[in-house]
Amino acid sequence: MGLSKAEVLEAIALEVKACTRCGLWRTRKNAVPGEGNPNAKVMFVGEAPGYWEDVNGRPFVGAAGKFLDSLLAEAGLMRSQVFIGNVLKCRPPGNREPTPAEIEACTPFLDRQIMAIQPKLIVTLGNYSSAYIFAKAGLPFKGITEARGRFYQTNVLGLAVVVFPTLHPAAGLYSAKYKQLLIEDFRLLGAKIHELGLS
Ligand code: URA
Repeated sequence: MGLSKAEVLEAIALEVKACTRCGLWRTRKNAVPGEGNPNAKVMFVGEAPGYWEDVNGRPFVGAAGKFLDSLLAEAGLMRSQVFIGNVLKCRPPGNREPTPAEIEACTPFLDRQIMAIQPKLIVTLGNYSSAYIFAKAGLPFKGITEARGRFYQTNVLGLAVVVFPTLHPAAGLYSAKYKQLLIEDFRLLGAKIHELGLS
């Protein structure tokens, strides 16, 4: 028998923690491979670890993560049901934006996580993860404000999936308008999960 999903994810996480494929390993405290339920039907993809994620080695544990927890509740989800990963596994210094070279170096890990988990629904949080997954799906992407809040039945890495792009939770921390849009999107997400029987 082959490896279980949990074993494959653990092997990927070990590789991520030892990774030196781009320069970010020099400044990281901890790599953040991602975490969650290996059998998740719903997978979330963020951008890159921030300060607290780098300190803890876990995704979305800072202020944006607290807000993500309340958004998950809005969709009727608990962290223990889903898998949460990022495009980049190491923190860019000062939380600067990921470079194309960093994305190219790091995303084979994300691809392998998607292949291992085989989610039915991928929620992309913000511009970078949405652009990445849309490109994998062969879908045109004109920016997150235009794409967000809709469900795209598509194919990513050979898997039939629904992709749901929404804003990055951090955007909801500085803009009341974005916060409201995020809440609305996560309510839509909850309804879709119910409709598809994914909870
Ligand atoms: N922002 C992200 O995109 N990912 C994290 O893990 C934390 C903050």
